[in-house]
Amino acid sequence: MTRRGLVLLLVSAAVIAMGVSRPRGLADVLAVRHWSYPDYTRVVIELSEPIETHVQHLGPDPAAKKSERLYLDLPGIWVGRNYKPGIEIADGLLRSVRLGQNTLRTTRVVIDVEQYDHHRLLFLTHPDRLVIDVYGERDAGSRGGVPGARHDDRLPADAREVRTVIVDPGHGGADPGAIGVGGLREKDVTLRLSKLLIAKLRASGFEVVTTRKTDRTVSLEERTAIAEASKGDVFISLHANAAPRRSVQGIETFYPDANHERHSLRVAMRENGVSRDQLDELQRTLAKLRIGEISPYSERLASLVQGQLAQELPSRYGKIQDLGAKKGPFYVLFLSNMPAILIEAGFLTNRSDAKRLRNGNYLDSVATQISTGLERYRDSGSTLARRNSK
Ligand SMILES: [Zn+2]
Repeated sequence: MTRRGLVLLLVSAAVIAMGVSRPRGLADVLAVRHWSYPDYTRVVIELSEPIETHVQHLGPDPAAKKSERLYLDLPGIWVGRNYKPGIEIADGLLRSVRLGQNTLRTTRVVIDVEQYDHHRLLFLTHPDRLVIDVYGERDAGSRGGVPGARHDDRLPADAREVRTVIVDPGHGGADPGAIGVGGLREKDVTLRLSKLLIAKLRASGFEVVTTRKTDRTVSLEERTAIAEASKGDVFISLHANAAPRRSVQGIETFYPDANHERHSLRVAMRENGVSRDQLDELQRTLAKLRIGEISPYSERLASLVQGQLAQELPSRYGKIQDLGAKKGPFYVLFLSNMPAILIEAGFLTNRSDAKRLRNGNYLDSVATQISTGLERYRDSGSTLARRNSK
């Protein structure tokens, strides 16, 4: 079973293609990866520089013997003949991905589709890459099988029993996240908190999968690939906050939604590692996404978890601002198709919060409250599934 799909890494060499030299000043395609999920296939194209593009859809053209396809033009990108044979996917949704030098200064990506309903395009950074998700009714007779296929794919989110929790410690490896008072690093706090949370969740009867167990770099799409491949039922991303004003403190929990508050944008820019311009692009994309189905469950989960944290922690640890459950445009939350929340467990830039975030007892209490919030979500939200399984 190919869980993560084929990974193709390319060394971009000084290529002479089509009898002409490579023009100056062009950027490269560094890698093309793909992953297959029950409802969609994800294609990621890693580039050495950011670009702007959009996806075009072309219906089948029997006269020209051309099947249905999507294409994108990548301005300022050189691939030469590196991808001449194309990359076969053949997962019942996509047939293949082809890249070629369309003009001297433009690379064209063609995605041959077998089944197509809709698609979405995202721009991620560090490294710069395009994420193209193609949705459709997968051809049941396709070869290769579908990793992550599950019997209850068609059940609405509240009818699924909450069994598997994906715990996602934010940042890691080359990405330290925010750095706070006394050099306290977000990536260390989130990893430590994740270990405590995983123990609590297992003790409460959940299956748990984590996106990283060590201090390693994990891309946003890899985090969600792990979640999808592990058949997660909910996704919990752990973070710690930062603010220019050192007096700002407290706990907040985000859930994905097309609309959001101004404050959420600033947090999302930091957590997504993107600029303001890119975030505007993301918002335009978000407005077109079908996250409406999942969003109410994420919201309920966020308010249950935030409620536990805000209610139970201050009595033991002093003043902790309840910043609430909020809507936020976080890549990591809507790159997967499951209810998802992102917890900011305190401000590393605030002296009192940072002191607590260094304290193992405090992190243990945070883990307990998150776990309790999840238990409440499980007990209130899966009545149908439990009735059916009896
Ligand atoms: Zn973070």
